[in-house]
Amino acid sequence: MLQHATELLKKYYGYDSFRKGQESIIDNILTGHDTLGIMPTGGGKSICYQIPALCFDGITLVISPLISLMKDQVDALHSIGIPAAYINSSLSQAEADNTLRAARSGAYKLLYVAPERLDTERFRSELQMLPVSMLAIDEAHCISQWGHDFRPSYLAVPKILDLLPERPRVTAFTATATPEVTRDITRLLGIAGSDVFVTGFNRENLRFAILRGENKRDFTLDYLRRNRDQSGVIYAATRKEVDQLYETLTASGFAVGKYHAGLTDEEKSKWQDQFLYDDVRIMVATNAFGMGIDKSNVRYVLHVNMPKNMESYYQEAGRAGRDGEPSECILLYHAQDVQLQKFLIEQSVSSPERKAGEYKKLQSMIDFCHTTQCLRNAILEYFEDEIPEPCGICSNCRDDRELRDMTREAQMIFSCIRRMRERFGAALVAQVLKGSANKKVKQFNFDELPTYGLMKQYKEKEISDLIHVLTAEGYLALSEGQYPVVRLEPKAVLVLQGQEQVFQRVQPVRETVYQRDDTLFERLRNLRKEISQHEKVPPYIIFADSTLREMADTCPTDEPSLRRIKGVGEAKVAKYGELFLELLQAYAREKGFQPSAGGGGETSSSGSGSGTASASDETPSHMITYDLFQAGLDVDAICTERNLKAQTVQDHIIRAVTEGHEIDWTRIVSAEHEPLIHTAIEDLGAEKLRPLKDALPEEVDYFAIKAVICKRTL
Ligand code: ADP
Ligand code: ZN
Repeated sequence: MLQHATELLKKYYGYDSFRKGQESIIDNILTGHDTLGIMPTGGGKSICYQIPALCFDGITLVISPLISLMKDQVDALHSIGIPAAYINSSLSQAEADNTLRAARSGAYKLLYVAPERLDTERFRSELQMLPVSMLAIDEAHCISQWGHDFRPSYLAVPKILDLLPERPRVTAFTATATPEVTRDITRLLGIAGSDVFVTGFNRENLRFAILRGENKRDFTLDYLRRNRDQSGVIYAATRKEVDQLYETLTASGFAVGKYHAGLTDEEKSKWQDQFLYDDVRIMVATNAFGMGIDKSNVRYVLHVNMPKNMESYYQEAGRAGRDGEPSECILLYHAQDVQLQKFLIEQSVSSPERKAGEYKKLQSMIDFCHTTQCLRNAILEYFEDEIPEPCGICSNCRDDRELRDMTREAQMIFSCIRRMRERFGAALVAQVLKGSANKKVKQFNFDELPTYGLMKQYKEKEISDLIHVLTAEGYLALSEGQYPVVRLEPKAVLVLQGQEQVFQRVQPVRETVYQRDDTLFERLRNLRKEISQHEKVPPYIIFADSTLREMADTCPTDEPSLRRIKGVGEAKVAKYGELFLELLQAYAREKGFQPSAGGGGETSSSGSGSGTASASDETPSHMITYDLFQAGLDVDAICTERNLKAQTVQDHIIRAVTEGHEIDWTRIVSAEHEPLIHTAIEDLGAEKLRPLKDALPEEVDYFAIKAVICKRTL
């Protein structure tokens, strides 16, 4: 049986062998067992039911939750010569009827349907006439009320088993299932415990990195510049943040798509398609984006906010590198994200029991962000998988920066926080240590503290970064709420007492994505793009990146050697063989290779990606001001430095903030004045500044008023 399945795999998909997990799942299905397969994203679930579907007589009914996913799967099947169709709300009644009629007459091996269909009387009666040999349930965790994606329509799935004249093979697949969810799935679908296959969570082609204290905007821009040619997803926590990042990146000349629940369906599908078709390479999105995105050549996933738990993180990060090519998952950690996630939990969860559960999951996520262990192993440990040797490539494994004794600096910071009575935020602590002459510092007489100016040789930003790292490592804690206050944790007290030392790795790690571009690969990719536009299917449906990569590395110039490439099956040779061979032969001639010598793709870099961004990169004036402000200069200092009027400088800063750049508001408006300004705005409106200024105490300046107005509109 398995022999036959392997032949089909080669014939249709062009792959020589099954992956470890696929083999046991397919074998189990083919020997007549209902089966649940739990496999990480990119593990190759589709093949686990598509190959058995080809082995069985009759039709396989695939329950799949998203319309876009269905269409994609069916397109992919067509492209390799497997007859398949789908029925969902994107079809008219007449089209759906036609499809069903064709299905009844045996025109398809696989029929994809949305779970909602199962509730319609019409479909249920049609179903009884279909020769269904197998039911395959994709994203099976949607059936469980304990899952993170429960869909009530999935509850109709088990019921159709009673409708069918004969019980078909039942197979179910998911990437994420806790033991609880697994039990739910098996119970509802009647799958035996011994027929559950967990194929492991390890994704060897992914490189994980966690970077702390990086400026989101700067890092993202820099990273994108260095990886201009790659496809990637940037996940942010909120719609607002997605919108802002989208604006920033677009303004910097990147072609970017965006996706969040606040967009209309048309907008969402427009961006999704552009991304799938490589028209935009970068997608900025909330976690609403992903389910149903089956793009296999995503080279990086960048999290600019920490997700709410490890399940979400790994699911999102796992969208990188589904084609098995080396890919990167980078998470930028900021302590504020902890507050944000707590806030979201408070907002969205009411049952105290579930709330406690969510906090626990959040804590595991936070711990992951601070571990010094191999990141891959930390993930596998969380999912209770087997732990291999450290990966050697994650940001922890590769962190060979010198460890510096930072005990003195940490003591200064802790002592300053204590002297400020643990009642202020990180920014003010940094200002006091820097010795800033800021109004607020004077107002509270902090310039009289012995710790005032104690770290003046450091930049204010360096001090606040260090505070964040110390928070990340559990020496300090931030209070909940809008203006987090820094407090000492017991660990910090030990340091103050000289009982413990603090070591820090100095200098941030610079990340580079794995790059191996060559000119042949680029040409192949362009050809694929042309075909994709012509045929209106996403590029990776024609050939995966890994297939093009292998072509570029081996440069086959005749059909038999083309066929040997992973991912080149019969249908693909018939359809695209000639076009690709033509390109490959031309390349071989150009380079003077022997025809099909079985190697010799040149590897010199095309040099793309760097140095191309200069024209659109000129920093706008207001951003220069903003950067100076962020570097710790106050408005007066910036005025001197840039020879500008105070009002201009203030307007620059406000503009940068409205464009989505972060700001420490406490440097502009004190906690004491802010409520007064809010009240005044509520009384007098925000159209004119003068009446507000007049109504407020003398010491409240225009900048503070503008800042509060700005804050209210964000
Ligand atoms: P999942 O649904 O589990 O996320 P897919 O079914 O989309 O994963 O498969 C991910 C990628 O792996 C696809 O590009 C697929 O063609 C490829 N793939 C699957 N099985 C194999 C195999 N046995 N050998 C090589 N590549 C495979
Ligand atoms: Zn590692």
